[in-house]
Amino acid sequence: MIYFDHNATAPMLPSARDAWLDAADRFIGNPSSPHRIGSRAEAAINEARQNLAQHLGCDPLDLVWTSGATESNNMVLHHCRQTLDTGTEIWMSAIEHPCVLETAYRYFPKTVRLIPVAKSGAIDLDWLSDHLGRGLPGLVAVMAANNETGVLQPWETILQMCHQAGVPFFCDAVQWLGRLPAKGLGSCDFLSGGAHKFGGPKGVGFLKCPSRGMLTPLLLGGKQEGRRRAGTENVPGIISLSKALDYREEQLARNENQVLTTAKAEFEQTLLSVLPGTEIVGASTERLWNTVSVLMPEADCQQRWVVKLDKLGFAVSTGSACSSGQETPSHVLSAMGYGAKETSRVLRFSSGWETPAEQWQDLLEALKTIQASLAIPPLT
Ligand code: PLP
Repeated sequence: MIYFDHNATAPMLPSARDAWLDAADRFIGNPSSPHRIGSRAEAAINEARQNLAQHLGCDPLDLVWTSGATESNNMVLHHCRQTLDTGTEIWMSAIEHPCVLETAYRYFPKTVRLIPVAKSGAIDLDWLSDHLGRGLPGLVAVMAANNETGVLQPWETILQMCHQAGVPFFCDAVQWLGRLPAKGLGSCDFLSGGAHKFGGPKGVGFLKCPSRGMLTPLLLGGKQEGRRRAGTENVPGIISLSKALDYREEQLARNENQVLTTAKAEFEQTLLSVLPGTEIVGASTERLWNTVSVLMPEADCQQRWVVKLDKLGFAVSTGSACSSGQETPSHVLSAMGYGAKETSRVLRFSSGWETPAEQWQDLLEALKTIQASLAIPPLT
């Protein structure tokens, strides 16, 4: 099976797997236990914390280990609910992951404001600048890279705008981390990430809190993580996350994503020429090097394409992992101005660091085969 669904989850890197197995053997203790076996486990997760802080450019004490980005994102909004006055607005991009949007509406049912995005999928900076000049929210949340389209958001500019206005900025960097350099992300007030998108194990992630580690805990019942997150830490997972990020940052430093970017660009170009009626979503703006979101020809629905590709040995997606298989239109594409009919035609192909360039070509051939079987006329 050829795997084109890395935005949902990626296979574990061999070095991360080895680190996980080694840590599971070596660090059997509970990091909170008072004996030396516990202290060794505690030292190991603190070393990983220091390493992550170095990559992000922040104080290790501002990092909290979690079970993944969904938990981290819930923690941010829970903290805001506990600390902000009733009636305070929370601004977030209309294309945030559901674990940000749904949590925000739960805690701030009347005061969430959505920052619009352009047809390109990038957030409307004029809207933000204009609105920050008129009144301040308690939080601005904009993700670094969108999971459905791969569109990159100008998080550095937004961070500057927020800091100038004195508003905390929260960035969900789940799809960015391990694919683009982590450097500088640690300046965001809140930042979330999860290991399984970049070659680490599932079920482990982190939250970077505002400076001095300020955070009201969501999970209660233990003093772990500086009283900010109760529950025994996932020791092997944390160590493996740290190793996986090291590996990806080294690949980025060697510019290894360049060849992958080219392979994807060639795929897109050929796809548009051989399949009439296709459209690349977000084509006019900067996107992740691994993600292609396509509106397929009108002749058939997305699920048919997914099933037929699956039969031919390709795992692809219709959008975010969470909404795959559901019929509701993508909120991301809707925010970009696409109608329900168009959103029902979208497919997402997301490659990984280890995807050979030829596999984009193989995918193209499979799409052409399906096109022929669906009797969609090829371009002459
Ligand atoms: N944020 C973004 C942008 C995501 O793409 C995802 C998962 O796809 C999440 C948050 C949630 O991550 P997890 O399911 O690992 O908790």
